Amino acid sequence: AIAITGLDKWYGAYHALKNIHMEVRRGERIVICGPSGSGKSTLIRCVNRLEEHQRGHIVVNGTELTANLKNIDAIRRDVGMVFQHFNLFPHLTVLENCALPLILARRRPRREAEAMAWHYLERVRIPDQATKYPGQLSGGQQQRVAIARSLCMAPRIMLFDEPTSALDPEMVKEVLDTMVGLAEEGMTMIVVTHEMGFARRVAVRVIFMDRGEVIESADPETFFSAPEHERTREFLTQIL
Ligand code: ATP
Ligand code: MG
Repeated sequence: AIAITGLDKWYGAYHALKNIHMEVRRGERIVICGPSGSGKSTLIRCVNRLEEHQRGHIVVNGTELTANLKNIDAIRRDVGMVFQHFNLFPHLTVLENCALPLILARRRPRREAEAMAWHYLERVRIPDQATKYPGQLSGGQQQRVAIARSLCMAPRIMLFDEPTSALDPEMVKEVLDTMVGLAEEGMTMIVVTHEMGFARRVAVRVIFMDRGEVIESADPETFFSAPEHERTREFLTQIL
């Protein structure tokens, strides 16, 4: 579970997040949308400590994220992240991409790590690609490797930052299907995306951000059919 209260973040003088309150309970899926530069990435990067905040509180599975370095590893263990650009190691095979973090960061024996990697590559339906290099895969396949790699670490929460926006349209579905599968298994997820079909299908709540603020937060039905704020309506007419 994640509890964010009164969160502010500045990049130098630039106020990137303004008094954010947000709660994600275990097993919930939250979708965040909003225009470019509104702070979506900054917000989820604060949740796994890729960015530091200056005011307010972020509590992840009972641990408050503080300037104290000690809790970072525990948080990173619990919180997986998938990026727009897949961030795979180009010189490692698909299998090694998945297994190596387990061997290096978790000190698991190679055999066990590879068994885990196979398991999750099957889970995202690409075990047949295991011995290839990332450059030999389609974008959709690479993104599914990135998801499998993240799942190998057995996270309790998954953060997705526009996981499909770098993909050709015909590959978007295979990645979204993988994410829907995760949602159906009860994974706690925060997903930054403009894929509103996905939001309707899995989100308990959709959040609209603009200029560092949460403008709207509602269940998908209300969000799409009766948003409260004019800025949300404007945004929806642009993307739907
Ligand atoms: P997009 O949809 O384009 O990904 P976003 O909603 O994810 O946008 P962020 O990446 O969170 O937006 O950026 C929010 C604001 O903070 C932007 O104005 C951006 O220029 C600024 N910003 C982001 N990262 C940094 C940084 N490392 N240093 C300074 N400013 C930053
Ligand atoms: Mg972003």
